[in-house]
Amino acid sequence: MDSRLEAVRDTVLARNPGEKEFHQAVIEVFESLGPVHDRHPEFLEGAVLERLCEPERQIIFRVPWTDDAGRVHVNRGFRVEFNSALGPYKGGLRFHPSVYLGIVKFLGFEQIFKNALTGMPIGGGKGGSDFDPRGRSDAEIMRFCQSFMTELYRHIGEYTDVPAGDIGVGGREIGYLFGQYKRITNRYESGVLTGKGISWGGSLVRPEATGYGTVIFAQEMLKTRGQSFDGQRVVVSGSGNVAIHAIAKAQSLGATVVACSDSAGYIVDEAGIDVALLSQVKEVERGRLTDYAARRPGSNHVAGGSVWDVTGTVALPCATQNELDGDAAAKLVSNGLIAVAEGANMPSTRSAVSVFQEAGILFGPGKAANAGGVATSALEMQQNASRDSWSFEYTEQRLTEIMVGIHDRCAATADEYGAPGNYVVGANIGGFVKVADAMLAQGLI
Ligand code: NDP
Repeated sequence: MDSRLEAVRDTVLARNPGEKEFHQAVIEVFESLGPVHDRHPEFLEGAVLERLCEPERQIIFRVPWTDDAGRVHVNRGFRVEFNSALGPYKGGLRFHPSVYLGIVKFLGFEQIFKNALTGMPIGGGKGGSDFDPRGRSDAEIMRFCQSFMTELYRHIGEYTDVPAGDIGVGGREIGYLFGQYKRITNRYESGVLTGKGISWGGSLVRPEATGYGTVIFAQEMLKTRGQSFDGQRVVVSGSGNVAIHAIAKAQSLGATVVACSDSAGYIVDEAGIDVALLSQVKEVERGRLTDYAARRPGSNHVAGGSVWDVTGTVALPCATQNELDGDAAAKLVSNGLIAVAEGANMPSTRSAVSVFQEAGILFGPGKAANAGGVATSALEMQQNASRDSWSFEYTEQRLTEIMVGIHDRCAATADEYGAPGNYVVGANIGGFVKVADAMLAQGLI
C-alpha cells in the first residue's frame, strides 16, 4: 500500500476497533488508491479519505417488540448515513442475527463507491438490525418492522435518506415499513423507500435487478475475452433474491446453473436449476433447499459443506460477506474457473481475490457487479418523483445500459491507472474520484 495512505489507514482502524468487516472494506479500497493520490495531491491535502471513512451520522436505537406468545424482545437497530456528497443517503436494511455496527459500516462504506459508479445522484448509507426473521410469523415480522420504523422515520425522507432491502428484508418487510412511515408522518411519500410493491409505487425489474445486473456485468467481462454465458457451467451461492434472479438470467443466456446454496447446505442439479421451483420453495413457501431436492428428480442436497466444491466455469457468490476464502478460490481455479462476479457484498476474502487475480481469472467486485439493484432503486425514485411507472422492457433496457456503462467505466479507469483488466482497481478509483471531487467542491463537509 502507498506509504502516505498507510498512516490514514492506521488511524481509521484504530478509531474503529473491533469492526473487522469495516476494516477489511477500508483496506481493500485504500490498496487501490495510491496512483490517484499521485495525480491528485488535493485529495490528501483536503483529508478526503479521513472524511470519507467517518460516517456523516450513525444512529443506533432500541427496537422492542412482542412475539405471538406476548413475550417482549429487544433488538438493536442501526442506520449509518455515510456520505451525501452525490445525493441522499441510499442503501438497504439488513435483518440478520450477525448484524452489528461493523457490518453496517462495511456495507455503507462500499455503498458510497457503488452508488457513485452507477452515475445516479445517490449518496451512501446502510442499516439494519440483529433481528432474526427466520421462523417468525407474518404478524411478528409486522410488529418488528413497525417498531423499527417508529424510530427510523425521523431520520429518513425522500431528500434525506432512502432505505431499501437487503438480507432478510424483501417486499413484505418494505410493505410493513412503508405502512408505518405513512401512518406516523401522515404523508404518502413514495420516494422514502425503494423495493415497494408494484401497485403502490414500486418499479418493475427492481426484484430482479441485482441478480440480472450481476450476470450482465459478468457477460461484459466475458466478452472482453471473446466469450459469453452460452454453454458455461455456473455455480451460485445463496438462494435468496439475488441468487434466484442471477440463476434465471444466466440460464436465459444459455448457461447451466448446476448448484446453489443456503446457510444449511447446497443442492447440485446437473440438468440446471429449475428456477420456478426454487422461487416457489424459497420465496413463496419460505422453505429450505431440502424441499427443492425432495421435489426435483435428479437433484441432490448436500448438508453443510461448501458449494465451491462444485466444478464450474463461472462462479456467482450471491449469499453473504466472506463466504468464499482462499482455499475455496484455489479449488475453483484448479477446477477450471474462468470468471467470478460478486452478487453479494464482499463475499470473497482478500486472499480469495488475490488467488483469482494471480490466476488471471476475470473478477468483478460486488461494488461494481451488484450495483444493478441500487441503480434500479434510483430508477424507482425517478418514477416516484414524476408519478410515472415504466414498462418492464424499458426498465430492463435502462438497467442493461447502466450495467454496461459501469463495466466500461471500471475497465477504462483500470487502463488509465495502469492496471488493465483489474476491475477492483477500476471500481475503487472510479467511485472514489467522483465522490472526492464532489466533496472538495462542496467545501469542508
Ligand atoms: P436474501 O435474504 O434474499 O438471501 C440471502 C441468501 O444468502 C439466503 O440464501 C441465505 O440463506 C444466504 N445467507 C445469508 N447469510 C448467510 C450466511 N451467514 N451463511 C450462508 N448463507 C447465508 O438476501 P439477498 O439475496 O437480498 O442478498 C444477498 C447478498 O446480496 C447480500 O450480500 C446483500 O448485501 C447483497 N446485495 C443485495 C442487494 C439486493 O438488491 N437485495 C443489492 C446488492 C447487494 P438462508 O436462507 O439459509 O439464510
